[in-house]
Amino acid sequence: MSHVFARHTAATPPVVARGEGVYLFDQDGKKYLDGSGGAAVSCLGHGDPEVTEAIKAQLDRVAFAHTGFFTSAPAESLADRLIAHAPEGIERAYLVSGGSEAVEAALKLARQYMIETGQTQRTRFVARKQSYHGNTLGALGTGGNMWRRAPFDPVMVTASHIDPCYDYRLREAGESEEEYGLRAANLLEDELLRVGPETVIAFLAEPVVGATAGALPAVAGYFTRIREICDRYSVLLILDEVMCGMGRTGTLFACEQDGVSPDIVTIAKGLGAGYQPIGAALCSGAIYDAIRDGSGFFQHGHTYIGHPTACAAGDAVVRKLTEGGLVTRSARMGEVLNSALTERFGQHPNVGDIRGRGTFRALELVADRETKEPFDPARGVAATLKKAAFARGLICYPMSGTIDGQRGDHVLLAPPFIITEDQIGELVDKLAGALEDVL
Ligand code: PMP
Repeated sequence: MSHVFARHTAATPPVVARGEGVYLFDQDGKKYLDGSGGAAVSCLGHGDPEVTEAIKAQLDRVAFAHTGFFTSAPAESLADRLIAHAPEGIERAYLVSGGSEAVEAALKLARQYMIETGQTQRTRFVARKQSYHGNTLGALGTGGNMWRRAPFDPVMVTASHIDPCYDYRLREAGESEEEYGLRAANLLEDELLRVGPETVIAFLAEPVVGATAGALPAVAGYFTRIREICDRYSVLLILDEVMCGMGRTGTLFACEQDGVSPDIVTIAKGLGAGYQPIGAALCSGAIYDAIRDGSGFFQHGHTYIGHPTACAAGDAVVRKLTEGGLVTRSARMGEVLNSALTERFGQHPNVGDIRGRGTFRALELVADRETKEPFDPARGVAATLKKAAFARGLICYPMSGTIDGQRGDHVLLAPPFIITEDQIGELVDKLAGALEDVL
């Protein structure tokens, strides 16, 4: 019997034995194509020698020193690298151990900024339905995954949720993409006016929605309007790029493609590429300055912030992404993947939508392609598909989303950027087989 308190308490999963490129192997020698990089984590694939070497070298120097006493060369280098490539106005990197921690830091930075600037009456957040921002109480409280929230609802931060920008399901007949983008963004203004804009700290959104909607980008113009609304009411804009950042969508930051700069952007997953647990909240100079010149101290912190070994991994990853051409490769292989998915599933009776950017792609699965009728949740299509794909040696990331009680099944693909055209063919073949097993 396993004593590991795993995600699924009923069945013990296979033991992973080794990884090589886009493949993982279990201890019985079975080979799995990592078609989703776990959960959009392993952007460099497995066994990358440069990242492994960087970690080993740091371990040989010093594994850990507390940030209460020291900074470290890898933390400084990683922050420099991130800020050099960050959206306009972003000037500081707060380095943490993962996505939820990055979002918690972002929420607290935003609240403390309001306190430092004399706006203590700002105590609430606005976010979107069908979103996921992490599992700690603050991140969960702002997230719009109702199923995950339900048990903890009474003990969470104050937040309210507007509809996401969901072209496939929420754009009305006869409405242009542009009109829809404006209408969807204006929901933020309606919500600010409903709750009182002077009470809102920040609006939080994923530029490309991941875990709850499967690689769902906003339509053109949506985020520009969102930025305008935030500015009009002095509400901060926090973009959560924990899943879609670090080259996943074909640019280092996903929001580059939406033409907006946030006040805070969170990253994790691809930042450590799975080699070390690491995340970051990157904030504007205005936020940093207000805290430095105000109380002089960000009232937050964890033992492992700026962990030197994790930063050494992150630094090597970001160097490979930016200088090694891997962001560009994500964009290029993403096009190949999109073409392969469109060719294979474009007319599939149960594939309603194929969407995404870069190597961040998804299929939305429906019972009826014409009416967009989702599958009956009782059928558990997403969960069954995950098992069927795994049996065939494919790791993909199917999930059920929720919006106003309506469920939708999606399968998310986020392969390592190093994937080849042949391996994309293998991925699509295996996925087609798994869909046949299930449907
Ligand atoms: N934000 C987003 C957009 C995410 O996708 C996730 C993880 N799926 C998180 C935050 C939380 O990250 P972590 O699981 O590393 O805490």
